[in-house]
Amino acid sequence: MPHNNRFPYQQMLPVIKLLDAPKKIIITTHHKPDGDAMGSSLAIYNYLKAKGHNPTIITPSDYPEFLYWLPGNEHVIEYPKQMEASQKLFDEAEIIFCLDYNNPNRTETLETVIVNSKAKKILIDHHLHPAPFCDYTFSYPLSCATCELVYQFIVAMEDASVINKAIAECIYCGIMTDTNSFRFETMTADTHRIVADLMDKGAENYKIHENVFDNFSFDRMKMVGFSLFNKLRMIPQFKTAFISLSKEDIAEFDSTTGDTEGIVNMALAIKDVKLAAFFYETPKLIKISLRSRGEFSVKEMAQTYFEGGGHRNAAGGKAYTSLDDAINKFVSILPEYRDELLK
Ligand code: 5GP
Ligand code: MN
Repeated sequence: MPHNNRFPYQQMLPVIKLLDAPKKIIITTHHKPDGDAMGSSLAIYNYLKAKGHNPTIITPSDYPEFLYWLPGNEHVIEYPKQMEASQKLFDEAEIIFCLDYNNPNRTETLETVIVNSKAKKILIDHHLHPAPFCDYTFSYPLSCATCELVYQFIVAMEDASVINKAIAECIYCGIMTDTNSFRFETMTADTHRIVADLMDKGAENYKIHENVFDNFSFDRMKMVGFSLFNKLRMIPQFKTAFISLSKEDIAEFDSTTGDTEGIVNMALAIKDVKLAAFFYETPKLIKISLRSRGEFSVKEMAQTYFEGGGHRNAAGGKAYTSLDDAINKFVSILPEYRDELLK
C-alpha cells in the first residue's frame, strides 16, 4: 500500500510531479540538529541522490560528533562555516526541504534566507502548529519522529524499493533517538513494523545504538557524573527534579556540542518524578530542556515561560537572564502546576 493517511495521493501528486526530473535541492533542519534532524536530513539526501537529483544539506549550526557516522555526513555543509557558498546554493535552489521544524525561526541563522527564497518548500515535521511558510506541508504531531514521516514519504513516492542500507540507517537513527530507544508513548506497533523493515533493508541496529549511545568521551562521562552528584536537585513536593550547569562547570570538562544530551532524562528517571529540567549556561543565554511523564505538558510550560516549545513530554526554551534567575523563575512557577504535577 504505497499511500497512507499522512501522505495521501492527492496531496502527494504535485510533489511527485515536482520531483519528476532532476532538481537542485537544499535540505534544511533546525538549529543544533539532533539525531532525528540529521537522520531525516541524510535519509532524504541519500534518497534524492539515488533518484538522480542534486541535493545539499545545509545545517544552521554544528551538531554532535556522535552523529558523524551517518551515511553521507561528509557532504553536510554547516552554514556558519561556509556562508558564501551556502548563499550561492540557496540562490540556485529549486526546492528546499524543511525537516524536523515547524517554524523558520527554529533554524535561527537560516531564517531569512529560507523565508526569502523563491524555491518550492516542502515541510515534513512532527511538531504542533506548523507556520505557513512552505508550499507543501506534511505536519503530523502524532508521529514519533520526522524520520518515521520520511520513511512514509518515500513509500508514498512509490519508492519503497529505493530504501537501501544507508537510507535505512539514517531513518533508524532518528526513530531511535526521538523515542529514547523505542520506549516513549509515541512508539506505536506501526513504528515497530517500520523499524523491522529498516532492519530487513540492512540497518545494523546494534551498531547504530553503539555509535550514538556508547560513544562518550572521557570528559563527557565525567560531566554526567558531576551533574548527578553535585548538581541534581529534588523538589519532592512538586515531583520535580532539575540539574544546572554554569559556564564554569562546563569549562571544567572541555565540553562539545551534544555532550549534555540525555542528562535531563536522568533526572526524569528518578522514582515519582513527573517533571525534569536541565539548565545550561551558554555565553549568550540559558538553554533549558524540559521533560515530563504522562499528561503533564512541558510544551505549554516552555511556551509560556521560556520562549520555547516542543512536544508534550519533551520541550525546550531559553532565558536571557542569569542562571540563578532562570532556576528561580522555574521554581517559582511550580505552584501554578501543583494540581497537574501531583495528579
Ligand atoms: P532538547 O531539550 O532536546 O533541546 O529539545 C527537546 C525538544 O524541545 C526539541 O525536539 C524541540 O522540539 C523543542 N525545543 C527545544 N528548544 C526549543 C526552543 O528554543 N524553541 C522551540 N520552539 N522548541 C524547542
Ligand atoms: Mn524530531
